[in-house]
Amino acid sequence: MKILVAVKRVVDYAVKIRLKPDKSGVETSNVKMSMNPFCEIALEEALRIKESGRASEVVAVSVGQAQCTDTLRTGLAMGADRAIHVEYPGTLYPLSVAKIFKALVDAERPALLLLGKQAIDDDCNQTGQMIAGLLKWPQATFASKVVLDEGNKVATVDREVDGGLETLSLDLPAVITTDLRLNQPRYATLPNIMKAKSKVIKKLTPLDLNVEIRSDLEVVQVTEPPKRQAGVILSSVDQLIDRLKNESRVI
Ligand code: AMP
Repeated sequence: MKILVAVKRVVDYAVKIRLKPDKSGVETSNVKMSMNPFCEIALEEALRIKESGRASEVVAVSVGQAQCTDTLRTGLAMGADRAIHVEYPGTLYPLSVAKIFKALVDAERPALLLLGKQAIDDDCNQTGQMIAGLLKWPQATFASKVVLDEGNKVATVDREVDGGLETLSLDLPAVITTDLRLNQPRYATLPNIMKAKSKVIKKLTPLDLNVEIRSDLEVVQVTEPPKRQAGVILSSVDQLIDRLKNESRVI
């Protein structure tokens, strides 16, 4: 069984986001970039499935600028067998990425496609769902546990929903998007980082996959949220109730 994993290059989670002076988007030049944390979890899950003997190959895929190869090298150092980079220098929205993945799935024929539940840069939480829609595959989003049956025919997935946990049973092939509590991703060791340097990253363009990048969305402006006012420390519960009643008028 082959597993395809989507790994997106995003601004590192520890970096304080700055906006471009012209408010056209988030500043990414001279900023530390890393693999999206939810994609690390998706890759870790794929590697664990392979290590349990259930999968024969894990393929990491990234779509975007030339520097996505750094993200793919990290994926290879974590343990992915192969990597595919679909290079596109411009802005990408989830539907375009989903169309690229649909074309890749048609070519690679994996039994499982794993993605992060969302990318921490655009917070869209759309790509996995759109791919499942385009492929007409079953999907389980926000997975916190994934169990495959003996014959790799069915995946049982616990997913985190508002009221608690929901358990779904999906026929493979399927799309699964990963939540934070699914696993703790491994660090790439130095020997594996060195070995990953010699692994091949296959290069494609959207055109090679017959995908035209076009968007019906235009970002008009990106602005910071208004600054929060400083809080006050009150001396008693009575004072708090009084403020909530008479000042904020929320009770
Ligand atoms: P989003 O819908 O943008 O929040 O992204 C959800 C997930 O889709 C991410 O965690 C990735 O697994 C995948 N994804 C989105 N964009 C890309 C991309 N450009 N390259 C690879 N994977 C992506």
